[in-house]
Amino acid sequence: MKRKQAEEIIKSVNETGKNIKSTKGKILYILLLLIVAVAVVLGGAFLGLWDNLADPDATDPEASVSTCKVHYIDVGQGDCELVECDGKYMLIDASENGHENEIINYLKTLGVEKLDYVVVSHQHSDHIGGIPEVLAEFEADNIIMPRLTKSQTPTNSTYKAFLNALKSSEAKITEAKVGAKYNLGTATFEILGPVTNDAEDINNMSAVVRLDFGENSFLFTGDAETEEELEMLDNGANLDCDVLKAGHHGSSTSSCNKFLDAVTPEICVISCGEGNDYGHPHDKAVNRIKKHTDDVFRTDLCGDIVIVSDGKTLSVSYENSMR
Ligand SMILES: [Zn+2]
Repeated sequence: MKRKQAEEIIKSVNETGKNIKSTKGKILYILLLLIVAVAVVLGGAFLGLWDNLADPDATDPEASVSTCKVHYIDVGQGDCELVECDGKYMLIDASENGHENEIINYLKTLGVEKLDYVVVSHQHSDHIGGIPEVLAEFEADNIIMPRLTKSQTPTNSTYKAFLNALKSSEAKITEAKVGAKYNLGTATFEILGPVTNDAEDINNMSAVVRLDFGENSFLFTGDAETEEELEMLDNGANLDCDVLKAGHHGSSTSSCNKFLDAVTPEICVISCGEGNDYGHPHDKAVNRIKKHTDDVFRTDLCGDIVIVSDGKTLSVSYENSMR
């Protein structure tokens, strides 16, 4: 009996030993798991892994941030803007005769092969002058322009050359109609003017374009003056924008207070020629604009101006250091 009891005690001690051993193992195993988990979390944080997991929208900034670039090309006393978004291009106006090569070279330097849209704000020579050469050089899919009545239609040689270029172009020609919306890559643009079709001065027939990219917006006003600005306001146009290209090269007859109050520009661009005969931009217009923003960029002083949007913020660069 004694021997049996002794054997049982030994067995019991051994069992307890096994249990202790087993519990120790479990503790060690759990500790090891904890160490591995902490290492993975710390390592992941170090590599920025959890930053991405925490924000499903975050992506590799190098790889996929889409931008929209607006080029206000210095073309002397005229207008010419190029919008570039996701490999799509929209040209707005092509300045006066004599600046076509500057425009063509600018576009070629950027690698433009095709223009998805050509917007002709209106048919004055300082906006259509370079259109024939541009259309001869680049394929264009769509041309958007205001439809003029017979009495509004110019008869000069620049207009005739423009008309011939349209006739030989294979682009689809569309009237600039208020409310029409288009896509340019991931950007969208909308026609806000002309509201009426019987303006005496075709400046006030200008096709006005609002471009939206993410949270940023740009307004291109052609040569719209106060008359058209007020018509757009009365029409309930969505004018509130970040970047305004001031109407009619900064003329005193454009950029009225009511219009600027609706636009509330953060940045204003004025396209005008150095030492131009019209005195553009006019001090009165500039002073009205400066009530809203000090960021006024003029092509006559800055040269080519480029504004880049990443959908949230805007950055401005320009050719000359003086402005
Ligand atoms: Zn003009």
